[in-house]
Amino acid sequence: MGNESLSFDEARALVEGFAALVREPEKEHVALLDADGRVLAEELRADRDFPPFHRATRDGFAVRAADTATLPSKLRVIGEIAAGHAREIALNAGEAAEIMTGAPLPDGADGVVMVEYTRRDGEFVVLDRAMRAGENFVPRGAEARAGDLLLEARERLNPAAIAIAASVGKASLAVFRRPVAAILATGDELVEVGENPLPAQIRNSNGYSIAAQVRRAGGDPMVLPIVRDHEDAIRSAVSSAKSADLLILSGGVSMGKYDLVEQVLASEGAQFRMTGAKIQPGKPIVFGTLPREYGDLPFFGLPGNPISTMVTFDLFVAPVLAALGGAKDAPLRFAHAKIAEDFKVAPGLTRFLPAVLASSAAETRVSVVPWHGSGDLAAVVKANCYLVVPPDAAVLAKDSMVSVLLKD
Ligand code: AMP
Ligand code: MG
Repeated sequence: MGNESLSFDEARALVEGFAALVREPEKEHVALLDADGRVLAEELRADRDFPPFHRATRDGFAVRAADTATLPSKLRVIGEIAAGHAREIALNAGEAAEIMTGAPLPDGADGVVMVEYTRRDGEFVVLDRAMRAGENFVPRGAEARAGDLLLEARERLNPAAIAIAASVGKASLAVFRRPVAAILATGDELVEVGENPLPAQIRNSNGYSIAAQVRRAGGDPMVLPIVRDHEDAIRSAVSSAKSADLLILSGGVSMGKYDLVEQVLASEGAQFRMTGAKIQPGKPIVFGTLPREYGDLPFFGLPGNPISTMVTFDLFVAPVLAALGGAKDAPLRFAHAKIAEDFKVAPGLTRFLPAVLASSAAETRVSVVPWHGSGDLAAVVKANCYLVVPPDAAVLAKDSMVSVLLKD
């Protein structure tokens, strides 16, 4: 059985330790247009020098610095070089070439004078300011040399990474297969979204919020039918999830008479790595692995309260899902802000409280969203971060700097 008294840091380290040992998933190829958010399964290297030529970064005149030593300097314009047009122009002393941003610098030139500092005079250009060698162009190979590593495997692709792939000529990319996360909502009170709940029933919202979080964390959700609080029903649902890469259960992990998830998992031979953490919300979270013929199936039992479910996913499920999808890591992103109001809590737990971060150029302030317990979705939908309250804090004084955990 796992340790019931893990602090948040211990619990997070345990999950990250597990994630670090996850086996590398299979690869597949996707078109570059479909690659955003996928995890790269190959290295991207420069196929040529970047830039491939001395690239002008301003519109103006390519000149020789030596020709601007005495001012004003009157140089003969011997040609024009536009972006995309290789020109066999070489500057001799006393000569200039009109040049556009993105065009290759002609031989003999060692810089570009911006057009704003020039006057045209027939076939000449007159410069009123000196130019130092190296101004307004990027030398060939300054960004990367042919063969240089531009992006390591296991990085999640973002628009800049996709631009790199395009610039080295990759129309398709090797990426890791998305991990399948089976989602199992448990509870006698639950009905499906399309059904009309009886007075004591509620609709299954966790199945959908977890599915959305799975997608954002790089996985493919496999939403299983709602399971009643009955051992056999839970057992057969769990066995129907065995083909997945990860099993996420919601509900049934607290101390209630009908919280049967842990018992069923134990009877199926689960190895529990964590049974509860000193956090709020989400204290009853469980994490472990179920034996199966080909490698163990990791599982999380998340508390059913919708906000607990979401927070514990962000804190603990996301890094495991990222690892199952081949990603190098999925660090939590913290920031610091001034708290807008005094905030008092009982010490002892690390709290992650839905909050709103509001920024101006001058400062960033965080306010806790007023909520009525871990089921208050309507309040929490406005949150864009979690206020992090350390376990030893009892009061966070208005205007003091506090930690926030950023949400994606
Ligand atoms: P449990 O963790 O099973 O004790 O559930 C805690 C609370 O979360 C109860 O109020 C449940 O009704 C609610 N809950 C459990 N599962 C879901 C779900 N799938 N969707 C929405 N609320 C849920
Ligand atoms: Mg329940």
